[in-house]
Amino acid sequence: MSANELRQADKTHLWHPFTQMRDWCAVGHDPLVLVEGRGSMLVDAAGREYLDGNSSIWTNIHGHSHPHIVQAIQKQAAKLAHSSFLGLTNEPAIRLAEKLVALFPLGTLSRVFYSDDGSTAIEVALKMAVQFHQLTGHPERCHFAAFEHAYHGDSSGAASLGGIAAFNDRFASLSFPVVRVADLTELEALEPRTVQSLAGIVIEPLMQGAGGMRTWPTGLLRDLRDWCDRNNVFLILDEVMTGFGRTGKMFACQQEDVIPDFLALAKGLSGGTMPLAATLTTERVFAAFLGDYAEMKTLFYGHSYCGNPLGCAAALASLEVFAAERTLENLQPKIQQMRVLLDELGGETHVGAVRQCGFMAGIDVARADGSPYPWQEETGARICLAARRHGLLTRPIRDTLVLMPPLCFDSGQLADAVGALRTAIREICGEN
Ligand SMILES: *Cc1c(COP(=O)(O)O)cnc(C)c1O
Repeated sequence: MSANELRQADKTHLWHPFTQMRDWCAVGHDPLVLVEGRGSMLVDAAGREYLDGNSSIWTNIHGHSHPHIVQAIQKQAAKLAHSSFLGLTNEPAIRLAEKLVALFPLGTLSRVFYSDDGSTAIEVALKMAVQFHQLTGHPERCHFAAFEHAYHGDSSGAASLGGIAAFNDRFASLSFPVVRVADLTELEALEPRTVQSLAGIVIEPLMQGAGGMRTWPTGLLRDLRDWCDRNNVFLILDEVMTGFGRTGKMFACQQEDVIPDFLALAKGLSGGTMPLAATLTTERVFAAFLGDYAEMKTLFYGHSYCGNPLGCAAALASLEVFAAERTLENLQPKIQQMRVLLDELGGETHVGAVRQCGFMAGIDVARADGSPYPWQEETGARICLAARRHGLLTRPIRDTLVLMPPLCFDSGQLADAVGALRTAIREICGEN
């Protein structure tokens, strides 16, 4: 099929996520058809190359079509692409669990539950937390606290935790009630009765993503861990975005020496190649579920593709690349370079606040006087469309531009990406 035939068939049959489909299907809109990925670049049907400025919605780690990961997937596909994880097991899933657990101090996070995406990684943590409290004599601990602007996924349970009104308000009738807090001060001010009803508190450590690339104050995570310990509330860390090097360490929680009770991993787990998620937890949680079958302590939860050998093989290969290419070590100067480049970009008339955490950044665009553009004007989206013409693909959160490159970006690509954003901002917002 030609690119035009593909576009036509897409507009006839598909429904894209988070997309106003009337705009998508409009006559003037030519969707970008991607055909190839090479390292930091994506290639469209016309052969044009683009920098992958948001790591293909925060998933890609080592670049596209990394030969080591491709080979691991090919080898595994030729051997065993999938078998059930209900009552059966497989080698890549076992080896990956060993490797994931070994990334944390001995005897801390020791158990791995696999699923398919970030939302399911959160769902299972919620169910484990509630069931744990039931099994240990605290059925009243059946609620969760979460933060304003939080994003933990789109399935109904994960979405209940979300603090973004535009995504959630419409489905309030499907949501379970959540104790919503803005910060630690509000958490500490909760009534004892409310605290005693909590099974856990969920947070995106260091930086909230979909809520607008918002950074948390340094030390908050450590304080939250202490609060959880004092109050017998589980700390559930959602590292679906921050995991696998984005903050400059393998996991955000390592920046503050915090070990959660549950850790949700997805997006970058497979290096950005296959849908795969893991929920890690402690032996203490695990042990509470053990007993005679008739005691009904079993966790009745699972998905068809749990422990998928292809995804696990890709994840193992991605971890091998981290070691072989010294990814985290090589990332440090790039994080510094990003800081310098963003400092300069911050001087632009139409750039407001810029927030960076490791190799991730949110760049607010605003009017010259600092006031926001009306969100209906889709300024951020128009800037990103303009940036595309200058060789950069990314997607905004309203009027916050997101820069979250694969960790393999080189310094020239980083400079080009920020340059494309600068040009695009000037084109859309004017130079002064
Ligand atoms: C993307 C994301 C999720 C949801 O993951 P999916 O794979 O899209 O279900 C959850 N939490 C955070 C922090 C995310 O960025």
